[in-house]
Amino acid sequence: MKLLVTGGAGFIGSTYVRRLLAGEYPGYEDAEVTVLDKLTYAGSLDNLPTDHPRLFFVRGDVCDQDLLRLLLPGHDAVVHFAAESHVDRSLQDGSAFVRTNVGGTQHLLEACLATGVGTVVHVSTDEVYGSIETGSWDEQEPLLPNSPYAASKAGSDLVARSYWRAHGLDVRITRCSNNYGPRQHPEKFLPRFITNLLSGLPVPLYGDGRNSREWLHVDDHCRAIHAVLTRGSAGEIYNIGGGSDLTNREVTGRLLELCGADWSMVRHVEDRKGHDLRYSVDDSKIREQLGYRPHWNFEDGLPAIVDWYRENPRFWRPQGELDLTQEGAA
Ligand code: NAD
Repeated sequence: MKLLVTGGAGFIGSTYVRRLLAGEYPGYEDAEVTVLDKLTYAGSLDNLPTDHPRLFFVRGDVCDQDLLRLLLPGHDAVVHFAAESHVDRSLQDGSAFVRTNVGGTQHLLEACLATGVGTVVHVSTDEVYGSIETGSWDEQEPLLPNSPYAASKAGSDLVARSYWRAHGLDVRITRCSNNYGPRQHPEKFLPRFITNLLSGLPVPLYGDGRNSREWLHVDDHCRAIHAVLTRGSAGEIYNIGGGSDLTNREVTGRLLELCGADWSMVRHVEDRKGHDLRYSVDDSKIREQLGYRPHWNFEDGLPAIVDWYRENPRFWRPQGELDLTQEGAA
């Protein structure tokens, strides 16, 4: 089995690759992995075991058709993580988001079609559904994205579906909730808050903090992606939820406690434009059809993650002291 993983030097992609190469996914203990990653500000080779004998790293762009057609032959499947992923950056300028997320996905699928690669798992987000005040979205929900990031992911989902419907390419789409875990870029909400608090710096909370997110441990997310790769079906969409339903204010309260700080460390900053109030996915499909179950709950996961950032300052120190006027929720 030979996999090509795009964006494998980023937060979630590198977790998937590390877990796979560590033999944690049954049946894939001997899998060979090619990581294709542009190494933007968000990617780092430090996230990967680059000396592993079954890992081959290629620095390159998912929009580069020539490179894709050179690389893809011989691979059995692709797991597509590569994307511009930060909502706040998309609000400043959405160009790179449309180029990489929509264009890159289309280039990748076109190259898969041309080279006969079997299966593509396209990693997307619950943000494509928009915002929901009560209840949860299932996979049939219409797409109503509210940020350029979410719109570019929704566009990529539609392109992905079209390659399945029109060309019969085996594309499977996953839509997950907010991830947390080791090695997330410190621009995102949880690492930014944790690293600021561990550094004795204030944290910037958007608006009144009523925005609610569902938190999914990155290890659970990667197991779910692998379940879709190994047991999912062509053309299907699978939601992956985290189970928690907490406001950013509630999460902030827990982080203050875990980091030994109090509310005097919180700065209320102007709300994000078009800030989605709440995300919540119904992930009964992946649970019932593929037998996926999360191992983590947020109660245990949050203290474990605070400990990880506390014990690994070398990961975040260079970037830890950031612009405090932005919250940076994913
Ligand atoms: P990340 O920003 O940490 O990593 C993205 C990776 O893609 C980086 O290594 C970057 O160098 C690479 N990349 C960017 N542009 C590229 C290009 N043009 N060509 C090749 N590589 C490129 O992102 P992440 O948090 O690991 O997210 C991975 C995927 O999961 C994304 O598709 C994202 O939309 C999706 N997702 C993330 C979350 C979350 O909470 N982090 C939630 C839902 C969905």
